[in-house]
Formats: sequence, C-alpha cells, structure tokens
Amino acid sequence: MLEKIIIAHSYGFCMGVKRAIKIAEETARAATGPVTILNEIVHNEAVVERFRLEGVAQAFSVEEVKEGTIIISAHGIPPRVIEEAEAKGLNVVNATCPLVTRIYDIIKRVIADGYHIIHYGDPNHDETKGVVGHAPERITVLWPRSQIEAMPEWKGRKLAMTLQTTSNTKQAHEVRRLAREKWPGIEIFNTICNATSQLQSAVMDLAPAVDMMLVVGSATSANSKRLASIADGLCGNGLLIGSAEDIREDWFTGEQGIKKVGLSAGASTPDFLVEAVIKRLVQISGGGAEVVRQKRRNGGE
Ligand code: SF4
Repeated sequence: MLEKIIIAHSYGFCMGVKRAIKIAEETARAATGPVTILNEIVHNEAVVERFRLEGVAQAFSVEEVKEGTIIISAHGIPPRVIEEAEAKGLNVVNATCPLVTRIYDIIKRVIADGYHIIHYGDPNHDETKGVVGHAPERITVLWPRSQIEAMPEWKGRKLAMTLQTTSNTKQAHEVRRLAREKWPGIEIFNTICNATSQLQSAVMDLAPAVDMMLVVGSATSANSKRLASIADGLCGNGLLIGSAEDIREDWFTGEQGIKKVGLSAGASTPDFLVEAVIKRLVQISGGGAEVVRQKRRNGGE
C-alpha cells in the first residue's frame, strides 16, 4: 500500500514557460484580429488546448497564417521565419525564452570572431532548429554524443560549443570532456538553463530514495522525458505520465506494491496536472499516504 509521496523540491513551470504563456495570454486579450501561435507555445497538450479553447489558433508554418498576429513559442525560431512573417505583414510577438536568445547572442558574437560552432542538441527539437537557423553554414549539430568520434578534426579552426538548454546535465558534462579531448582549445559555453539543472538535480537526489518516480509531462516535452529517463536510471522505476489518468492502481497493491513514490514534473507541465496526480495517489492510498516536500541538500525548502 502506498505510504508516502515525496514531491521534488523543484518541479514544473520554469521562468521561460511562465513568461511565454503570459505573453501569449496578454497578446490574445489585447488583439483585435486573429492570433496564431507558431508551433506549440510550450510542449504540453493541456496548455496548447487551453489556448485553442480561448480561440487562439495554432500553425506549424508561416504559410498557414493569413493575417493578424503570430506568436513565436518559448523554444525560439530561425530568424528567416520572423522575416517571412514580417514580410507578409503579420504582427510578430516573440515569446522566445531569454535563455534561448542568450544562445543566439553567443552564436552571433563568436561567429563574428571567426569561430565554427558545434551545437549539442536534438536536431528534431524546435530549439535546435532555431539555433541552427541563426547560422546554418557555421553550425554543426552534435547528436547523440557518440557521434563526436565521427566528427572532423577541424585542425587550425577556431571552435566553440553551445548546448541545448534542456540537456541531461550529466551527459553534457561528458560531452564537454570529450569535446575538450578531441578539440583542445575549443571554447565551451554552458548554455544549459538553470531551471533544467535544478529540476534534474532534484530528481537525482530523490529517485534513489523511492520505489517509483513519476514525472508528469508530455511525451513531446524533451525536458520531461529526460527527467523520467534520469529517474529510471537511478531507481529502476521512473515513469513519464501525461496526467493522473495514467496512474494504475495495481502498481500499489500486493506484497510487491509500491510504498514510496517520488513526484516531479517537466518545465512545461502546469501545476493543476501535478495537483491532480497528488490527489489521485492519495485517493489510491485510501487517504493514508503522507505527502511531503523533498528537502534541498542545504536543508532549505
Ligand atoms: S527550460 Fe530553460 S530555456 Fe527552456 S523555456 Fe524554461 S527556462 Fe527557458
């Protein structure tokens, strides 16, 4: 029977996601014409659906948008897409996270200094597409990290490295080590965001102390999937769930039933989904499970 639910000290919405949602809400409220979000404002179906119900359209290319306002998501976009939208006469509202914009600024600066950039990031993720779109000729994507061996030596070339903001911090540490070995002199910018580091470090601390670790988040959210995979590696029972409906009662029954559950949520997961998961877990425990918040390593909340 489930006895304890421990909630990670850091979970859920990050600064960039909160900011993007606020920008989109304010834009939708103030707009007189149609408003369209390009791609998913953040990678969570519940958030996307809420905007849809409020009459905000969604598109996956500028071509689909005929008029009005277009909102750029938190993950950013290649500059040519913004140019295309402006050339079409659309009102562009940019909700790109400032920590993604920071990567664009680094890229512009080092390219002006003659560097070639190696960007460690999933090529299919919106953020990577936006980053690469800032200088397609001067950026090489490294993904997965095992590809590093097959990459050119680029002898005599000035090299710099940037990383996807939501990279696995442990793997990224290894990537940086391998990069320094392969390309001595490479200038590495650690562009993993603070929110990612905090979410991952909470899971790393919590997962070894529980029987099961649940991460609430969308299967389209890279950072949520990463949290679940880190948890799984540490407790052997880390699961990504979209909502409370994915919880199965039989996980907690019988001799082998789970007694202690750890709970986290990706940076794009709204609080109401996490609250519903806690409620469901308490209900499954017959109301007896204790709900506590994980202590930070320094003893703070
Ligand atoms: S995960 Fe980090 S980079 Fe991405 S939106 Fe949140 S704060 Fe910004």
